[in-house]
Amino acid sequence: MTKLAPVRTIGIFGGGQLGLMLGDAARPLGINTVFLEDAANCPAALTGQVFTNAEFERFESSCDTFTLEFENTPLVSADRIEQKHQLFPPSKALFIAQDRLNEKNLFQELNITTVPFLAVNSLDELNNASHQLGLPLVLKTTRGGYDGKGQFVIKTTQDIETAWQELGDATNIAPLIAEGFIQFSREVSIIAVRSQSGEIRYYPLVENTHHHGILAKTVAPAPNSEHLTEQAQDNIKKLLEHLNYVGVMTLELFVTNEGLIANEIAPRVHNSGHWSIEGAVCSQFENHIRAVAGLPLGSTDIVQPSVMLNVIGQFPNPKDLLGIRGVHFHHYHKDEREGRKIGHITVMTGDDTLDEAVSQAIACLPNKLGL
Ligand code: AMP
Repeated sequence: MTKLAPVRTIGIFGGGQLGLMLGDAARPLGINTVFLEDAANCPAALTGQVFTNAEFERFESSCDTFTLEFENTPLVSADRIEQKHQLFPPSKALFIAQDRLNEKNLFQELNITTVPFLAVNSLDELNNASHQLGLPLVLKTTRGGYDGKGQFVIKTTQDIETAWQELGDATNIAPLIAEGFIQFSREVSIIAVRSQSGEIRYYPLVENTHHHGILAKTVAPAPNSEHLTEQAQDNIKKLLEHLNYVGVMTLELFVTNEGLIANEIAPRVHNSGHWSIEGAVCSQFENHIRAVAGLPLGSTDIVQPSVMLNVIGQFPNPKDLLGIRGVHFHHYHKDEREGRKIGHITVMTGDDTLDEAVSQAIACLPNKLGL
């Protein structure tokens, strides 16, 4: 008897909600998922066995193929797996995505328009960067930043020293990166998936609204974005091919009058693709699993326009929320905690009541994230 899938168990670095949703997508394909994660009661524990880092060898020996849902998976662990097994995406993608300087240097090498930037190793170099790039500028740690953490917007020359003390001295993550401040009209992202045979499929460009650096809302497809699609697809294609990438990749971009400016990549499924569980023919999670397992990719076409809202910190009342037509709720089985992503909502009505349903869903959110 031939097997449906050549891969039976996928080992996943990380065990958060992305792992949970990857596991949920793998199960119908007859594929098991196991996770490497130190928090035993992590969301992904609902969908597969969890090994701690102390159990690395057992994790390694239980899987055929490996992938990740945690962007900061240590490179040493990824390299160790790659020596004997297949890891998709390759560790080189982690090497790039874990460091903002590596990322921006690669954008430049591939002729992908990105923000003007300089590496900053000292207060003198920061002063120099403020002259070369002008103010305002954004000072960021090159590593370890997420959801807007590890960033300082320098508006005036008086801010320079404070910014250096806060990021340079305090974090000790040298070098930092200084970026020109982009006057963007909106933020978009593109998610694409590349198979083991090199086929690439693109989800539509989506529009993202952030609140204090955390994603609040994604609109799929991004309104009035047809003229931007070709550049976004071309950019992510260059990255996928250069890295010989397999699986889902996300590219976040700023929209400006001069076109798109690349901000950062995520070498994994992404919060701005959660709408695809209901809103696309084949979700980002299923397509990632398909790519990693060596299966044919599924359609990235939209089923219906949809809007995703993040649930941060506190859960809405499910009776109120689920009474709204077109609402889907995803609970990450995490405890409530300020600032924590604990669930998301996808609204999809298939008609012109979508905006009204989204407003009603926002009204149910204890934390409205400025929406
Ligand atoms: P990041 O962690 O790089 O995605 O940054 C978090 C958020 O800060 C982005 O989604 C933007 O809203 C804003 N941001 C980051 N870099 C810049 C920049 N160079 N110019 C203007 N806004 C930025």
